[in-house]
Amino acid sequence: MSEGTDMTTMPPVFPGSVDAAGQRATLGVLGGGQLGRMFVHAAQRLGYFTAVLEPDAQSPAGLVSHHHIQTGYDDPTGLAQLAQLCQAITTEFENVPAQALQTLAQTRPVAPSAAVVAIAQNRIEEKAHFAACADLSGVTCAPYAVIETPAQLQAVQNDRADLLPGILKTARMGYDGKGQVRVKTAAELAAAWAELGSVACVLEKMLPLTAECSVLVARGWDGQVVSFAPQRNVHVDGILAVTHAYEGNMPPALADKACEAAVSIAHHLGYVGVLCVEFFVVEDGSAHGGLVVNEMAPRPHNSGHYTIDACDASQFDLQVHAMASLPLPQPRQHSPAIMLNLLGDVWFDASGQLREPDWQSVLSLPGTHLHLYGKSEARVGRKMGHLTITGPDVASVKTVARRAASLLSLPGLEDI
Ligand code: ATP
Ligand code: MG
Repeated sequence: MSEGTDMTTMPPVFPGSVDAAGQRATLGVLGGGQLGRMFVHAAQRLGYFTAVLEPDAQSPAGLVSHHHIQTGYDDPTGLAQLAQLCQAITTEFENVPAQALQTLAQTRPVAPSAAVVAIAQNRIEEKAHFAACADLSGVTCAPYAVIETPAQLQAVQNDRADLLPGILKTARMGYDGKGQVRVKTAAELAAAWAELGSVACVLEKMLPLTAECSVLVARGWDGQVVSFAPQRNVHVDGILAVTHAYEGNMPPALADKACEAAVSIAHHLGYVGVLCVEFFVVEDGSAHGGLVVNEMAPRPHNSGHYTIDACDASQFDLQVHAMASLPLPQPRQHSPAIMLNLLGDVWFDASGQLREPDWQSVLSLPGTHLHLYGKSEARVGRKMGHLTITGPDVASVKTVARRAASLLSLPGLEDI
């Protein structure tokens, strides 16, 4: 099967099946991080064997998979081995070489495709895509300009004062707020572009955000789509800190609009798999008031981790279903939830000494679900795990979340 082949009739890969050669139904993932680990857990629960391609010997996903192919992401031998082992393949991190997905797609169904991953990997192409489907999705992105050359920098300095104050973002390889510089003046813009290595960037107008949210959509080979209700996200220093997932987490009209927009963005891309679309909620009455699309992640997302414990199908279950061409049931959230991200910071006390977090107290709280990713070394800013709190009602979930956040000295507490 090659890129562009009509996959709408992709036959299902049934879990637990064994082919004529005695090979067990196996799903593969490029990348060995925590998203891969949770994907592997979901696939294995259903009865699949799993294979992870990841250069690191001790990766979160590699540690729990049936097969670990320990090569570089673009190693031809490793990729051939992955294709040989697996009936369908996905990816778990954004900066996977799109070429690797293209190579795999020559012989195996790959979801999402190299083409859509390449769009999401480049803010310039991503924004062009959002603009192209704005009529359909009903939302636009923040006003921006592309800066790839000194002439474009000059033009923006001369003519786009409307974009200041703004955020200069590298077109590629940005995540968790990395590769971004906030600028107030034309001079600061020039300095920031130099600081970022004069690589391709976008300058985005700084918008007065009242909130941020994201929507997870799963789309099958046949175009069927299901989605979760939007979750409201709180970022601290550019990194997701808290996700609020319960009814009333945001105004219903905005929630509906975000869901519809995410679904139309997925359709417009011909997307297969789980897609996360992030939105800004901008102060009403301001120039760009309402809902603005920020960016998309071509995979399950940190803001959807609560679905493991609070929904009858998680974002990882849906990724498995979508790529294996199984039915996509509409997921139902059965409990209100708050997710707290656990960065490596939690493993250090106020004087910078390593310590074991107080799990004894945290785990004694009702409705806490601790997920640690199996990373051996805690580092400041490193995603080590998350804690989801579920409960019978929003008030009790908030009470427990506040208690847990305080026990672990987590940021974002004032917002819970
Ligand atoms: P991620 O880890 O989600 O991939 P990222 O590094 O790609 O993050 P963005 O999502 O572009 O970064 O921005 C990180 C955060 O910075 C946003 O969640 C938001 O809080 C803030 N931010 C980004 N762009 C703007 C903007 N135009 N106006 C106001 N705030 C912004
Ligand atoms: Mg983001």
